[in-house]
Amino acid sequence: MINFLDLSAQYKTIKTDIDQAIQSVIGESAFIGGRYVQQFEKEFSDYVAAKHCIGVGNGTDALEIAIEALGLPAESEIIVPANSFIASSEAITRSGYKVVFCDINQKDYTLDINDVKKRITENTSAVIAVHLYGHPCDMDPLLDLAKEHELRIIEDCAQAHGAEYKGHHIGAIGDIGTFSFYPGKNLGAYGDGGAIVTNDEALASRCRMIANHGRKEKYNHMFEGRNSRLDGLQAAVLSVKLRHLDNWIEKRRSCADVYRKHLTGVGDIHIPYVQSWSKHAYHLFVIRTNERDALRTYLKSEGVETGIHYPIALPRLEAYREHSQHKEKMYASQYSESLLSLPIGEHLSDEDISIVSELVKRFYLQYN
Ligand SMILES: *Cc1c(COP(=O)(O)O)cnc(C)c1O
Repeated sequence: MINFLDLSAQYKTIKTDIDQAIQSVIGESAFIGGRYVQQFEKEFSDYVAAKHCIGVGNGTDALEIAIEALGLPAESEIIVPANSFIASSEAITRSGYKVVFCDINQKDYTLDINDVKKRITENTSAVIAVHLYGHPCDMDPLLDLAKEHELRIIEDCAQAHGAEYKGHHIGAIGDIGTFSFYPGKNLGAYGDGGAIVTNDEALASRCRMIANHGRKEKYNHMFEGRNSRLDGLQAAVLSVKLRHLDNWIEKRRSCADVYRKHLTGVGDIHIPYVQSWSKHAYHLFVIRTNERDALRTYLKSEGVETGIHYPIALPRLEAYREHSQHKEKMYASQYSESLLSLPIGEHLSDEDISIVSELVKRFYLQYN
């Protein structure tokens, strides 16, 4: 059996440190706020080289709070790629703005900069750059566009802890970046968690206040905010795991190399393209093939778990049946029928990846 994800295998490798961290938090009753949260915020801002980090309840909250903190013109339009998890677009609507979907580029599946250009109107106020699958978006042309049209750039980094763009960690390249620590992400907590990073002090302070009922001091509320907290237990777990993150990502890269070696030229497979300016964090290893469903069934019968990210492009979802782009033709909706995520992660050895690759090869020999 080759699992898509194996969090208990990972836990076994760090059990002593994790158990001790959890005991400390409970021993000190440092459940909300306190030194474990502060320490993780400091470590994580250092890791992504951002001046500020605010721990919040989850990655979706992080997006909503970041959008609110930017104080964009009411009901303005925010552009988001059509291939992502629904949180990326949901946060726009939830914050009172209008979702405008852009297409993805055919190489790395992140936003298509030329299509973003076409979607900009006088009502556009921001773009959400989703570093999808762990591959960074091309930020420089996006920042140029932002300058030209006075747009704010939000980086959705939920899948891209550890990814770099031209030598810089993603997150604080645009105005503000958001992370998720959902257990299955590259850096995952033992429950929900999220973070916002930015180099803008005023923006950071606004995020911190929004996430904490609009206050700076205990009962002195400056405006109505909300409650969204990274709790002490999660922060302590994340601090332990952050020390291993670079190693784990190296293992992901090694898995990717093995796939690349074996699967290049096999069947009609498209191997993930890595842009020269990118350091891919391989949250997912996504191939493209017209035989997707049959290949997936075959791998499952051989004990290999795979995933699909995502089976329905965002505008095509029932949730967007009233959206003007619901039926628009895009690569994103076309590709949702051929994308397949092969297992990748620090729980898999190079040999496991070779086994999966051999099965994939066998599939194409047998059925084509
Ligand atoms: C996981 C994810 C989110 C949401 O994070 P949660 O912590 O689950 O709320 C947002 N955007 C993308 C691209 C994601 O993959």
